[in-house]
Parts: sequence; C-alpha cells; structure tokens
Amino acid sequence: MKIMTGLPRHFWIGILTGTVLLLASMGLYWQSLERKYLLQLDEAASNARLRAEEAAHALSRQMYSQLKGIDFVVHHLGVRWLQEGEAGIRSQIEPATSYFPAEALQLVAVTDAAGQVLFSEVLGSRKQRAMVSLADRDYFREHQRLDTAHFSISLPVVNLYTGDWTLQFSHSLLRDGKFDGIVLVSISAGYLADAFKAVYPDPDDVVLLTTPAGEYLTRSHRMADALGKSVQPDRSFLQQPDNSHGFYEAKAPVDGIERFYSWYRLEEYPAVLVLGLGKGKVLGPVLRSIEQSRQQNLRASMVLLVALLVIFYLSLIRARQGNALMLEQERLSTLLAYFPAGVLLEDERGRVVSVNRNFGRMLGLGKEVEQLAGTSHMQVLQRMSPWQRDWFRPLSPGQTARRNMEVSTGSGQAYEISWVAIQRKQRALGHVWLVQDISERKRKESELISRANTDPLTGLANRRSFMELLDVRIQSGQGVLSGAVLMLDIDHFKRVNDSWGHPVGDEVLKTVARIIASNLRDEDYVGRLGGEEFAVLLSTTQLDESIKLAERIRGKIAASCTLSGADSIQVTISIGLCMLDGQDAHNVLVRADRALYQAKERGRNRVCVATADMA
Ligand code: GH3
Ligand code: MG
Ligand code: MG
Repeated sequence: MKIMTGLPRHFWIGILTGTVLLLASMGLYWQSLERKYLLQLDEAASNARLRAEEAAHALSRQMYSQLKGIDFVVHHLGVRWLQEGEAGIRSQIEPATSYFPAEALQLVAVTDAAGQVLFSEVLGSRKQRAMVSLADRDYFREHQRLDTAHFSISLPVVNLYTGDWTLQFSHSLLRDGKFDGIVLVSISAGYLADAFKAVYPDPDDVVLLTTPAGEYLTRSHRMADALGKSVQPDRSFLQQPDNSHGFYEAKAPVDGIERFYSWYRLEEYPAVLVLGLGKGKVLGPVLRSIEQSRQQNLRASMVLLVALLVIFYLSLIRARQGNALMLEQERLSTLLAYFPAGVLLEDERGRVVSVNRNFGRMLGLGKEVEQLAGTSHMQVLQRMSPWQRDWFRPLSPGQTARRNMEVSTGSGQAYEISWVAIQRKQRALGHVWLVQDISERKRKESELISRANTDPLTGLANRRSFMELLDVRIQSGQGVLSGAVLMLDIDHFKRVNDSWGHPVGDEVLKTVARIIASNLRDEDYVGRLGGEEFAVLLSTTQLDESIKLAERIRGKIAASCTLSGADSIQVTISIGLCMLDGQDAHNVLVRADRALYQAKERGRNRVCVATADMA
C-alpha cells in the first residue's frame, strides 16, 4: 500500500488503537441505546397493559350492570307472564322498552315447556311473529335440560324482520317448581356494541363480548365480520378457565391489527368482556420518539465517523510531513557531519538548532559539541576562550548582510568566520556561523607573495621588492641620515658567460649573491636589480663604515669567488656607493649608479662614492 510508505510503525499502531477504541465505544453506546429503547418499549407496553386492564375492568363492571339490568327486565316480564298471562306481560313491555334505547329491544316472546311460542311481540315492527317453535334452539334446550331458574344468553342470530344481529336473553319459567317454558328478550347486538364504540371510537381499539367458549356476542368495530365466529383458541381466557381476568397480545384475524388485550369474566353471566388497545397507537409515540432518537444518534455517529476519517487524514498528512521533516533532518545532519567546515546553526532567537563536530574540533569545544543543540548562543560562548567569544559576538537583530572575518588562532591556524542570515519573505528564520580553515590558503598566498618579491636564481629580493623597501625606508625616515645604498656590478661578466657558458654564469651569480649577503649585517638588505647587478641598503651607517663594508664585500669576491668543482673563475666586482641624504629612492639609485659607472671607468674592482655633482 503506497500510503504506508515510510511512516513509522507506531503511527499505524496509534491510528489502529484509536479507531478500535472509538468503534468499540460507539458499539457499546449503541448497545446501551438499543437496551434503553427496549426498556422504553417495555415500559410503554406495561403502561398500556395497565391501562387496558383498568379500562377493561371498568367496562366489565359497566357490562355487568347492563346484563344485570337485562336479567332483571327479562325476569320481571316472566314473573308478570306467570302471574297475569299475556295482559300482564303486555303491560310491562312499554316500561321495558323505555329501559333500552330505540330499536335495541327487538322481540319479547314466551314459550311453553315444549318450546312452542305462546306469546311474541316484535317491537319496532307491526308484524306479529309467527307462532313458531323454539324447541330446537340451544338456549331453550339448555333451559329445558337444567329445569331450574336460569338466565341464558344466546349466540347472535339475525333478526329476520330487521336484518339486525340480535342476542336472545332468556329466563326459564317455573310454575310450581316445574319448567314451564321460557321468556326471552331479543336485543340488538349493535346496541351493546354502540356502548363500547362510544368509549372507544377508534377502530385501532376494540371491545368485544364473547361467551366463555370464545364465540363472539358483539364487537365494537366490524361486528358483522366477527359475529358467528369465535376468537382464536390460543386466547388466554380460553386457556385459563379458572381465572377471572387476564391479558394477552395478539393480532386480530378480523382486522389484522395487533393489540394488547385485557379480559374480565362477568361473574355469574356466561360472558367475557375483552378490551383490545391498538399496539401501534399505544406504542406509536414511543416508537416514533425512539426512531427519532435513533436517527439523531445515527447522524451523530456518522458525523463522528466522518470526523474520525478527517482526523485520520490530517494525522496521515502530518505524519508524512513529520516523516519528510525527519528525513530532511537526517540528510542535513549527515551533510553537517561530513561538511568540511564548522557549522553552528541557530534560530532567530539565537538558540542552537544544529552544530557539527568540525565546529567543536576547530574551536576546541570537544566531541560532545552536538549536545549543545537546544542551548542558547550565550551557553555556546561560555564554552569558548575569551578571544573566541570575540569572533562569535552576536550581531544586531536587523543584520541581514553576510559578514566575514579572518582570524588566526594561537596555534598558527587561520580561520574565516562567516555569519549568514537565513531569511524567508523578509522574515528572519535564523543564521549560520560558518568556520572555515583557511590556513592552507593563507600559506599559499604568502608563498605567492614572497615568490613575487624574490629573484628565483639567487633567492635575493628582486628589483621591485628592493625598490619598494627602499622607498618605504626613505619615506618613513628610517636610516635617512645614516644609511647608504651600494650598487654592485660584476666586472666583465659577459666574458664569464662567453667563456664558460650561461649555466656557469648563473652559478657565478649565485656565489656572488651569497658572498654579498653573508658579509652584511642583520639590519642590511640586499637585492638583485637585474642581470649581474645587485644593490644593498646599509642601515644606520656612516660613510667610512659604509666604505669599509663595501670594500669588504668587494675584497671577499675578488678573493674567493671561485666555483667549486670547476676551474677557478676569478670575478671581481665594482661598487657605487651613495649615502642617503634625504633624496628619494630614484635619485639615490641614479647617483649610486653614477658612482658605479665611475668605478668601472677607473678600472673596475673598486668602490666609488657618489658625490654631490653626480645628481
Ligand atoms: P662590465 O665590466 O662593463 O660590466 O662588463 P660586462 O661584460 O659585465 O657588462 P655587460 O653589461 O656588457 O654584460 C652583462 C652580461 O651579463 C650580459 C649578459 O649575457 C649577462 N647576463 C645578464 N643576466 C644574466 C644571467 O642571469 N645569467 C648569466 N649567465 N648571464 C647573464
Ligand atoms: Mg652590468
Ligand atoms: Mg658587469
């Protein structure tokens, strides 16, 4: 992977650990969040259950008193039938109908012990019910079988005249303790359902009345779809016949809605009241708030992840920059280590950024000089000798121009110390102190200088050099009153060359030069003016002493100038002497030359002193 190139291992470990920790804590957070949602849902569900139970209980009490009322009405009609026959029962129909709302009470009928209808009154219709037999009806057969005072509720049946679903509420008639038929009241199932509907108008919630066997008696919503059917056999009131009330959750086959159901048995009546509260409605707000919270948390998590990615990206860039910087520093320190000069790199405040060993070696600061990195310039100075401190005196803050200084050490070394500012866009970033060993250069320079001033054959000062010195001595007043200049010329030198050859002539020149030089005092100075002509500056000497010195030289040459190993070559020398008397160098030489000329004139191998008229 290209992205990994060059980055240190600990960077990736750090990134990986950070990511794992963040993802793990996010995972834990989401886990606890989901647990919280579940708890919220559980709480909402148990609240709903509580509400359903309370409401179902209240409804069951209401239903119970309603059944009690119907029970009373039916019983009372039966009593009047037994006491007064048809007239008795008719007198009670009017008050009985007022007990129920319009069209709720649909039929009042009486049968004999065999089930034959003896009396029937279809209410809300002018038609008289046919005098049919009810002998085959379940509820009749039940009354007949029990043979005691008994109140029965039938399964719903459709009223042939009104088309409504009705429930038959019947009482057995006992005459002298014996079964003597039944009295029945047919009540619209819708009437009962309407009462429930008034309390729970939303079809999400449902109230139903069933037989203990689960057959629908009425239902607050979609009654027509339910009547004639039974609830699912797994409902808890079917499973727990001994319990008076209970709870279950289910999806109703009638409308496909999921609900929390709470049920109550209606004591002595063969009916169960069931209240179902729509789950969606009950849990909806909680589910919505959970979903909202989940979305918010999801968004926050996404933002966190994006932030993580951004942080990762920035760290990557930073790490790569850091890495590049590290490599750069490594290159720089390698360069500094092998750099032939001493380098002290400082930031703009004079703090040492880098220093190489050469710097330490050249200034005698020791090998551990690299440890000075991070210290101040003053601390570096403290490790130097007093004269070295002078070389590295800090420059004024505004200084930008390069500064060079040549210094010599006590041990004869010569250093060039440069100060170079580091600037970027007018901003001072620091500076470099550079120490270069220029001893060799200096030596070569002085060698060149001396070579330029020396006559290569004899090793004496050359004409230019001699003239300069003479000039300087005369101008500075040194030996002005008491010095002299000798001008020396080998006699008949041409003959030497002609007779012995040029190389031998050179040897003669060297010998003469040596003899002249060796017969001078330390303070005297000799030069070769050219060819076989020499000049001597005698310092602080009087005329007679000068003549003596000149004569000595002349004599020595005349006496001893022979070449070793060769046949004896006799050379002599003529000397013109001119005392320094305030004239300039040129004039002095001209007069000395005249005196020399005179010496030649007078026969050579002699000394002539310049006179005033020789100017
Ligand atoms: P005089 O006594 O009058 O001085 O006679 P001279 O022969 O010495 O004078 P001249 O000036 O005629 O000759 C000088 C000669 O010196 C000419 C030249 O060949 C020779 N000479 C000049 N420079 C050198 C040198 O460097 N080496 C040699 N071998 N000869 C040189
Ligand atoms: Mg000459
Ligand atoms: Mg000569």
